[in-house]
Formats: sequence, structure tokens, C-alpha cells
Amino acid sequence: MSTDAIAEFARAREHVLQQIADACARAGRDPSTVTLVAISKTVSADRLRAAVAAGLATLGENRVQEAADKVPLLPGVTWHLVGPLQSNKVRRAVELFDVIQSVESLGLARRLDRSAAQVRPGRPLPVLLQVNVDDDPGKAGFTPDAVAAAAPELLDLPNLRMDGLMTIGRLVADPGLARPTFRALRALAERLRAADDRLGGVLSMGMSADYAVAVEEGATIVRVGRALFGDRAAGG
Ligand SMILES: *Cc1c(COP(=O)(O)O)cnc(C)c1O
Repeated sequence: MSTDAIAEFARAREHVLQQIADACARAGRDPSTVTLVAISKTVSADRLRAAVAAGLATLGENRVQEAADKVPLLPGVTWHLVGPLQSNKVRRAVELFDVIQSVESLGLARRLDRSAAQVRPGRPLPVLLQVNVDDDPGKAGFTPDAVAAAAPELLDLPNLRMDGLMTIGRLVADPGLARPTFRALRALAERLRAADDRLGGVLSMGMSADYAVAVEEGATIVRVGRALFGDRAAGG
């Protein structure tokens, strides 16, 4: 593990944390309420060792198999799943991940609940409900109406801890154009929590292109990949 690589990741981390602090200052928020999840998909375990040494302690992956290869090599990391989860990989995901951010249907939540009962009895699994705020056919997630309808049953699942909501912003050139999506997620969370306060207050929103805007709009988790690790190969 090269000290150069560690220093480079430490600089990238500092830069992102400064942007988060600046956005918090603009919004009158406390920066300690925002968690940086470093999205490490396609990044080798070797490079990730340097990233962890530089202080990036919470990593996010979007594929179960890729995580299965990395998790044993990187002790002490908190792992988030941020990608789609097929039913045949649910149990493995519950074994590997500390948080599942991408719960996109009631069926998936029920399967996660059953696996969590077996894999980690007595320790409800922290999850986020992924919401397709803009009703974008290219994106996964509950529609806002669907999550409101499913909320009572979701919140009754005994082996899951519903920490809050997650969304993916619009892919737009101007990050300001992602703002309405983030604002809508926050408003939806407030509406759902007014109806049932068992839903937690986590808002996972914002990626490399738009995390500062997301923090201004109330993000408590930002998911940042390229701004920390550089561009991924095409398709990554
Ligand atoms: C890849 C990914 C990210 C990170 O995207 P960057 O543009 O690299 O910051 C965040 N969230 C999800 C769900 C992702 O798949």
C-alpha cells in the first residue's frame, strides 16, 4: 500500500468533506449530520486499502458478487449496498452488508426480513427505501404513492430497521436541476414520518455531480464515487 496513494485519497476526501461543510454552512446545517459513503464499485481491494487508511471507512457497492470478493479483504469497513438486489442473492447480501440502501419493493423487503431473521436474529437490519421520485422509467424504486401505500406493512417487518429514504437524482449537466428531486424526497419523508414516526430520518441523496446541492436540500448520506476514486471505465 503506497503512501502516495493514501495521501491522494486523503486529499480527495478532504476536498469532498470541505464541499459538504460549505453546503452545510449555506443551509445552516451541522456537517456532523452528513455521512460520506464512498462508492467503491469497480475499485480494486488493493486501492481500497489505501482509501480506508486515508479515512474512508464507509464504502458502498452496487453488486453483491463484487462485494463478496472485497469484504473479507477489508476488515473494519461499514458496507452499504446501493444497487439492485436479485432474490437469489438476498441472503448473501444480508451476510455481507451493514446497510441496504436499495429496497425498491415490498417483496424485496419481505425477503430481506426473512433472511435477517436467520442471519442476524435480534439485530434488525438497517435499510433505506429507494424512491423513484421523478417516476423515471429508467430507474428502480417505489413511486411516491407506492411507498406511502406500502409504508404500514414495511414498518411492521420486525427484522428490518427502516432508517429512511434513498433516491438517485436526475442525470443533468447542471446540478441545480437535480434540486427538485431532492426537495421532493425530503417532502415525501416528512409526510411519511408525520403519518408514522417509526420511519427514520435518513435521506440518502447526492452523488459526485450533485452532492453539494443534495446537502443543501437535507441529505444525511451522500454517495460519492468518482469524486474520490476518479472516473470508472465505461459501463462501471
Ligand atoms: C455509482 C453510484 C453512485 C456514485 O456515483 P458517482 O457519480 O461515481 O459519484 C451513487 N449511487 C449509486 C446508486 C450508484 O450506483
